[in-house]
Amino acid sequence: MQGVGFRPWVYQLALRHQLGGYVFNSTLGVTIEVEGAEEALTGFEAALRTEAPPLAELDRIRVEHLEPVGYQEFTIRNSQDVAGEFVLVPADIATCPDCLGDLRDPANRRYRYPFTNCTNCGPRYTIIQEIPYDRPHTTMAEFRQCPACEREYHDPGNRRFHAQPNACPDCGPWVELWDRERMLGQRAEAIDQTRKLLRDGAILAIKGLGGFHLACDAANDAALQRLRQRKLRSGKPFALMAASLEKIAEFCTLGPEECAALSGTRRPIVLLARRPGSRISAEVAPGVPTLGVMLPYTPLHHLLFEGGEFDALVMTSANISEEPIAFRNREVAARLHPLADYFLLHNRRIQTRVDDSVVRIFEGRERTLRRARGYAPRPIELGFPAQEVLACGGELKNTFCLTKEHHAILSQHIGDLENLETLEFFQETLAHMKRFFRVEPRAVAYDLHPQYMTTRLALAMPGIEKIGVQHHHAHVAACMAENGLREKVIGVALDGTGYGTDGLIWGGEFLICDYLSFERRFHFRYVPLPGGDTAIRQPWRSALSYLADAELAVAPALEAVPAAQRRVVEAMISGRINTVDTSSCGRLFDAVSAILGIRLETTYEGQAAIELEAAAAPGINEPYPFAIDADTIDFRETIRAIVRDESARDVRSARFHDTVSAAIAETCRRIRQQDRLKAVCLSGGTFQNVYLLGQTAQLLRAAGFQVFLHAKVPPNDGGLSLGQAVIASSRAS
Ligand SMILES: [Zn+2]
Ligand SMILES: [Zn+2]
Repeated sequence: MQGVGFRPWVYQLALRHQLGGYVFNSTLGVTIEVEGAEEALTGFEAALRTEAPPLAELDRIRVEHLEPVGYQEFTIRNSQDVAGEFVLVPADIATCPDCLGDLRDPANRRYRYPFTNCTNCGPRYTIIQEIPYDRPHTTMAEFRQCPACEREYHDPGNRRFHAQPNACPDCGPWVELWDRERMLGQRAEAIDQTRKLLRDGAILAIKGLGGFHLACDAANDAALQRLRQRKLRSGKPFALMAASLEKIAEFCTLGPEECAALSGTRRPIVLLARRPGSRISAEVAPGVPTLGVMLPYTPLHHLLFEGGEFDALVMTSANISEEPIAFRNREVAARLHPLADYFLLHNRRIQTRVDDSVVRIFEGRERTLRRARGYAPRPIELGFPAQEVLACGGELKNTFCLTKEHHAILSQHIGDLENLETLEFFQETLAHMKRFFRVEPRAVAYDLHPQYMTTRLALAMPGIEKIGVQHHHAHVAACMAENGLREKVIGVALDGTGYGTDGLIWGGEFLICDYLSFERRFHFRYVPLPGGDTAIRQPWRSALSYLADAELAVAPALEAVPAAQRRVVEAMISGRINTVDTSSCGRLFDAVSAILGIRLETTYEGQAAIELEAAAAPGINEPYPFAIDADTIDFRETIRAIVRDESARDVRSARFHDTVSAAIAETCRRIRQQDRLKAVCLSGGTFQNVYLLGQTAQLLRAAGFQVFLHAKVPPNDGGLSLGQAVIASSRAS
């Protein structure tokens, strides 16, 4: 509850009940000693339990009785550090309504000041260098508070009492606008210039809370086309920031849960169904029926929208790390050079880079797809004490996880560990979090894939027990952990790639497991994957493999691929040259996407499956045939039926989804017949497909299963580290 205005609230409460004593933050939590009349103490305790401010989120309260010492007054003492004990590190909080009021009030001394914050809002995790969380331990230490700010900071009746990043135009950070050569303007003037440039179609790099965004007007096709060219990824959807819920409602469908997620204090990107015919450029998210949208979460963002020029801005992560004293640093501008025309920079240092989080609402509940700003580093409660371990996560969408007491502490989304820069980010964040949370891991968990950077990193750690965890076991364990399950479950883990205990690539897996071990009961039928990673970027290769397995000639849609190329790959498949066998569900979706002519080559991960889902017509529910034998789910009949079926593409896509759902339900029934298990956990990146997820959950529930889904951590590899952690904690000697 640190850093959220709890102590001033306690102070006011003690005054109200005429109690003496003190309150202080320590790494143990908040300690309060109060002395006074019996009724007053009772009233104080009751209020503590029932009236605490929403952000305080009291975990538990322990009460002890002490002898009176005769306190004359109630005071707020300085923070204390209790060595080795667990401490909560606060996550960043979106600008609160009071600060927004200050920002918009011409009479306020913080009118249009982009770094306005208070104890209820502002930067936290992104600026913290050490704990306990106090100003000298943040990147705000270099700004000395002016007398007015100092007074607020020391006044227990003030909203900014001990607001560690407290600042104003006289003493705090400021913004500057630069082009590639020189500074163009500072402070309010720089923001006005920025808005004008955005209006004129420029692309700006904007330094925010936990990193940089590339921004442009979301209604400007030409600007978006330039941005796509520069980012070299032609199809991946860009996130949007819109001024208000009202604006968002103009171009997306909003329900009450979506509104709550969008406007809450964590302000994630929320995936929303887009309305047809809006002014938002089609270039923002080609080929998908959703938009990822967020509301402004810093005062600077609010100022960008104050003129009402934009419905929405593209705000895509610029994915660069920052050097110290960034905006004096030419190097940053140089690195951004190819991406942005101008740079809106500021001089509050980002200690820890944190991306925007991504969530969606499914079955009335917020589901995390990328867990970062506003969520990390809040622990996930396990409900049981865990041994202290480090789980390194996977390769793509990496997060890592530390455990301490009954907490699982996941890092923010680190990203794809494909280059040195991301690996450094991983290592820096790990060093930080081990220190913040005082974790001394006795074991390290890693994925069985020998080529993963995290695997090599884990195996090189000296003097610590090494625990290899199978990829899909980790997925299911993550789902178990966040749902508080410890007994054996049926785990359905469907995804693109995970290293199997037989050295092959798994991805269509039905396990029986608990935290200690797993048994692989069923899996999708193996097919040869021609050309490894190339096959992931070229779904037509998977299609050829599935067609060959079903003893079919080429499907019409694949004739778009040059015949010579096809022949080479066909020869690879029949001769098993440079192929690896895989039971991947992701490749099955790729193959069907290509066979239906939806996507032959991809420009971002998962694109073929995402567009296949987007194509599916609702309410068909007519599965194609499939077969299940002793341990294999066989879709050869399905592939034959898809090729034969002359229905429209959207019908065939829907029927394919229905087939996979039906196969999952039937497989779970067979497992239940033998093992009497009723709990099913659905995990793995494939379950980001809401068509499949909805249909499958419904079928399973109708068949009497208890179905458990992800919400707190992503079903994709971003949740892997949580599963690895609970497994390693159970297995560690
Ligand atoms: Zn505030
Ligand atoms: Zn000041």
